[in-house]
Amino acid sequence: MLIVINEKLTDSYGRSLYYLRLSITDRCQFSCSYCRSEGMEFLPKEELLSYEEIKRLTKLFKSMGTRKVRITGGEPLVRQGVERLVSMLHELGLRTALTTNGFVLKKFLPELKDSLDSINISLDSVHAETFEKISGMPRAFMRSVMDSIIASEKMRIKTKINTVVIKENAYEINDLIDFAKSIPVPIRFIEYMKVGENEKEPVFFDALKEKVAKSKGLIKMNEKFGDGPAEYYKTGDGSVVGFISYSQPHFCDKCNRLRITPDGMLRLCLILGGELNVKELLRSDLNDEEIKDKMANFVKLKPFSHGTYRALGKKMNSIGG
Ligand code: SAM
Ligand code: SF4
Repeated sequence: MLIVINEKLTDSYGRSLYYLRLSITDRCQFSCSYCRSEGMEFLPKEELLSYEEIKRLTKLFKSMGTRKVRITGGEPLVRQGVERLVSMLHELGLRTALTTNGFVLKKFLPELKDSLDSINISLDSVHAETFEKISGMPRAFMRSVMDSIIASEKMRIKTKINTVVIKENAYEINDLIDFAKSIPVPIRFIEYMKVGENEKEPVFFDALKEKVAKSKGLIKMNEKFGDGPAEYYKTGDGSVVGFISYSQPHFCDKCNRLRITPDGMLRLCLILGGELNVKELLRSDLNDEEIKDKMANFVKLKPFSHGTYRALGKKMNSIGG
């Protein structure tokens, strides 16, 4: 297939930024201890981009070179009409993906399955007590998340599990791998990123990888399971395990992402930020070409790397991960 690189979404380092992460809400039923604080106030509705605004914006992005959109949040499935949004993006000819905590996913799957190319579902533990501790939700909810993962794979949607590794679940890594294998779906371990005052003790990924390698064996795979920065391995018993580690020196080299935050900012880097208020542009008198020019100029400012800086200026649910 011939892929035409559109210069407008190419940054000053020649990277094609074809992958847009679109966060449609900062709201969430969960309060994962590494992501957001329990009492935080959510954005009022008028601060969010409307679906009409998102439609116009994604059309502009598509004409500039976007090929894939991931819908995220907060929890994207708490925003009403999300299934219509996914279908609209699919009809635009974009590859569509969803990142969700999985709690209510199962009931959405019949409506989503024809317009969604892939789903990442977060699951931080297969032990109810740890699940409760990390998510701040009743332990019984863990079963709903697990059932969603199973149902998603059964419907033949490309499904992966995401696990943020912190001190509380680090010793359960092999149980999570076994659960993923039983379905079977790939599982990715995500290095915790410091968020404001939610400081957690970091788990060092080299040590984590070594631990898995010792107990299960790890063989590097060339195959990629998505457009993200994960490195994939196969264990001796055939599980597919990915590691996403922000502290690895080459993490940023092939970055292909742009982000839209729930309050309508175009964000260049998860960690360093750099934001353009596209909501303001969409609500102004500017025409489509003028908005595209502003976005294309802004994109050229994307930094090559976050360097050694690894703390976020905003809570993760206010960016979209
Ligand atoms: N609510 C959905 C979910 O949990 O999958 C989507 C939004 S969540 C902000 C997107 C991703 O960010 C999830 O995979 C989550 O595990 C990850 N994440 C949240 N806080 C993080 C942190 N402090 N460090 C690393 N990853 C984090
Ligand atoms: Fe909600 Fe996802 Fe953040 Fe957990 S990681 S609090 S599920 S937005």
